[in-house]
Amino acid sequence: MKNALITLIRIIPFIVLAFYHAPSCIAGENPAGRTLSVFVSIPPQQYFVEKIGGAHVRVSSMVSPGANPHTYEPKPKQMSALSKATVYFAAGVPFETVWLKKFASVNPKMHIIHTDAGIEKIPMESHHHDGENPSLSHRQGKEDHDEILHGKDGKQEMDPHTWLAPPLAKIHIRNILHGLIEADPLKKADFEINHQSLLKEIEEVDAELRDLFSGSGKNAKFMVFHPAWGYFAKTYGLTQISVEMEGKEPKPGDLKRLIRHAKEERIKVIFVQRQFSTKSAEVIAHNIGGTISVTDPMAFEWSENLRETAKKFREALR
Ligand code: ZN
Repeated sequence: MKNALITLIRIIPFIVLAFYHAPSCIAGENPAGRTLSVFVSIPPQQYFVEKIGGAHVRVSSMVSPGANPHTYEPKPKQMSALSKATVYFAAGVPFETVWLKKFASVNPKMHIIHTDAGIEKIPMESHHHDGENPSLSHRQGKEDHDEILHGKDGKQEMDPHTWLAPPLAKIHIRNILHGLIEADPLKKADFEINHQSLLKEIEEVDAELRDLFSGSGKNAKFMVFHPAWGYFAKTYGLTQISVEMEGKEPKPGDLKRLIRHAKEERIKVIFVQRQFSTKSAEVIAHNIGGTISVTDPMAFEWSENLRETAKKFREALR
């Protein structure tokens, strides 16, 4: 009797464990225990999806932080991982126009959600700032790079960098929320709670930035190589001056005009990003006695990155 009792006591933990583990044994079929495999186009979306999905998602970004989303091509390894993904969140970046169809053919069951849906796009900044010569902004003869950049349809290029303005980031995360719920309805409550706190985080960043730029004067100007900050500028009442013209390095004549313009506006900092060559920005900086400063539209840490970039812009506006 005593022995039997001891035996029973000894095996109790195993019985408990067996029952405790039972649900996860069928995790494959049980949606309640499943982790969603999610792909996104760019790192800031990964940040958003991880915040909303929490432990329920496993997220990979097609474009890594250092790569250029305008000319990106997925690697074979990514394509095979993609074939097992449940959801793809597209951001509206140029490489998707070529690749999204291929993604769908590799994995026909995958949900494809456009997180920029519902955002009204503005034209890509090119050379509109000059004012004296509007024909410059309607230059002919686009190169291949430019076609990859902004489509071959010949229409005005639309600016894809919507995630860099907090009010538009809120649209992205709403679409992400709906996409995750559609893919895994049982986690709806968790997704909604997480979405709420991310929404609060974005609104806090927005409020801080409004505060930061409130005293910066109307149409304060900053100069960037690649015009990724158009929506950001619009949100905070700033003017972005682009060095790059329609996806290309400026020609010598344009460079001269940009240098004159930068001097007139007393610009001292040219913002560049690590994904692009900075040759012409350096020439301008040298000629105006200014400096180069690096910003990153593709950084994973969305909130931190926006705060830091805003501070750099604000500093340069003085
Ligand atoms: Zn860009």
